[in-house]
Amino acid sequence: MEIANNIRKIRRKIKAAEKKYHREENSARLIAVSKTRKIEEIISAINENQRHFGENYCQEAIEKIRAITEPGIVWHFIGPIQSNKTNQIARYFNWVHTVDRIKIARRLDKMRPENMPPLNVCIQVNTSGEITKSGISIEEIEDFIDEIKDYKHIKVRGLMSLPEIKSNIDEQRDSFLSLKKVFNQLKKNKPELDTLSIGTTLDMEAAIAEGATFVRIGTAIFGSRNI
Ligand SMILES: *Cc1c(COP(=O)(O)O)cnc(C)c1O
Repeated sequence: MEIANNIRKIRRKIKAAEKKYHREENSARLIAVSKTRKIEEIISAINENQRHFGENYCQEAIEKIRAITEPGIVWHFIGPIQSNKTNQIARYFNWVHTVDRIKIARRLDKMRPENMPPLNVCIQVNTSGEITKSGISIEEIEDFIDEIKDYKHIKVRGLMSLPEIKSNIDEQRDSFLSLKKVFNQLKKNKPELDTLSIGTTLDMEAAIAEGATFVRIGTAIFGSRNI
């Protein structure tokens, strides 16, 4: 009940932010971040018509993906990638948001099964003051994309970041601004880039203001986590 209500509430907030910042309706899509959540909780979200889910831990995620047979669910890997997990990530997920090493991109490409569509990939960028040490710098993005753009089994879709949460919306927007600028610059030569994966529970509005095409929301949907 509560999960369904939370999803409806988040959808209303997304819609309001799209309007406020002159974004097209439904241009910011919702990924429900279901790490550490039980299958039943995910099912509650699915019953509310949620289709995109984000997971951080490979083993835990694969158990859920295998158990949930509902058609049309889109699974996003949003955690740090260990190279010995690339095989499973390439087999089970539709999207990976956290690619920040060529070696990982190469392995995902090699391990994506031939009979599946290309794996959608975002490059994780560290715009300074990130929560984790993951991500390449803004200066490295273009070369990184050029290096992997001809890989046959992955498809570079855009950029992702996870900045430290600032206390007010103007500072939050500042955290996303440099990423948005390079994203718009890159799109001039690479029109296939269509994804900006930014924004969590605490900075969702700022992310939508700065052009998020996916927001990744956990706490506001499923409640607070222990980890
Ligand atoms: C956990 C996580 C989220 C969701 O954060 P909430 O604050 O719970 O909304 C989003 N993105 C990434 C990469 C995460 O690891």
